[in-house]
Amino acid sequence: MTHYGCSLLGCGVIDERHFDMDDYQGAIARWCPGCGDHSILTAVQRLLEEEQLKPEETVLVSGIGCSSRFPHYVKTYGFHGLHGRALPVAIGIKLERPELHVFVTMGDGDCCSIGAGHWIHATRYNADMVAMLLDNNMYGLTKGQTSPTTPLRFPSNTQPHGSYLRPLNPLTATLGVTNASFVAQTAEWIPQHLFETLKAAYHHKGFAFIRILQRCPVYTSKIYEDAVRSPDLIEMLIHDDGIHIPDLDQIYKNQVIHDPSNLNEAYRLAQDSDRMRIGIFYRNEGLPRYEEVRRLPARTAEERVKLLNEELDRYAV
Ligand code: SF4
Repeated sequence: MTHYGCSLLGCGVIDERHFDMDDYQGAIARWCPGCGDHSILTAVQRLLEEEQLKPEETVLVSGIGCSSRFPHYVKTYGFHGLHGRALPVAIGIKLERPELHVFVTMGDGDCCSIGAGHWIHATRYNADMVAMLLDNNMYGLTKGQTSPTTPLRFPSNTQPHGSYLRPLNPLTATLGVTNASFVAQTAEWIPQHLFETLKAAYHHKGFAFIRILQRCPVYTSKIYEDAVRSPDLIEMLIHDDGIHIPDLDQIYKNQVIHDPSNLNEAYRLAQDSDRMRIGIFYRNEGLPRYEEVRRLPARTAEERVKLLNEELDRYAV
């Protein structure tokens, strides 16, 4: 670890640490070869390094699923929780420790099925965090069951003749929630775009929801195959207040200027399924955040431990 800039710690000691990518490297990732989660992990670690986030002030929270192994692979604090329950845990962390940087990873089953109620209310609470939906359109960990985002007629182990219903649209669902403040979509096979989207989400003050289109070579290898091979199938939303990466202009020629402050247009673009669109659909930093309006009293570490013990004692038998 090399020394770099410094900051003053509360105790008056100068913090001269500089963090490299290796400093955020947790356990060796056990996802399948070719799984899109590997690229998302690299993008998150790159963001932590670029922003020089202190590992002890950063928390990764997840539920259950392939993507929910994320906290094991990043050397920060982490909470690998219950299926569909990542968001309430993350909100609890943010309420008690608003100074922490909170990142949430959820799969499509985790977020859009069993966790759907929490997803809606977390969007409304608008607590300051980055919420990533790693959408591979299938339950991967439990071996290929139809999820809420599985395309119509796509076969799975639970619906071998194809999914019966049209998929849920995570973008319009989030945009439709009162107090939604940041909604974006990106794809893990376009690393520059993935990184810039994560960065914009991190700098957003509020609940930043990103749907990340994610390849699963085991169960849904065909779903994003055409889009990976033919960039013309993708349309990029660009704007001075959104994301524009000039290096990608020659590859992704389908571009549309979209002002992320326009909610109605965001909804129209998200609803139209003719094109696979990536970019920031909506951003509004003027909305109330739960950790601000709720204003929990500041407590010392000792007071927190005392309160936690009192709470646990209530359940003693
Ligand atoms: Fe990734 Fe699919 Fe393997 Fe899960 S089953 S680790 S989503 S490739």
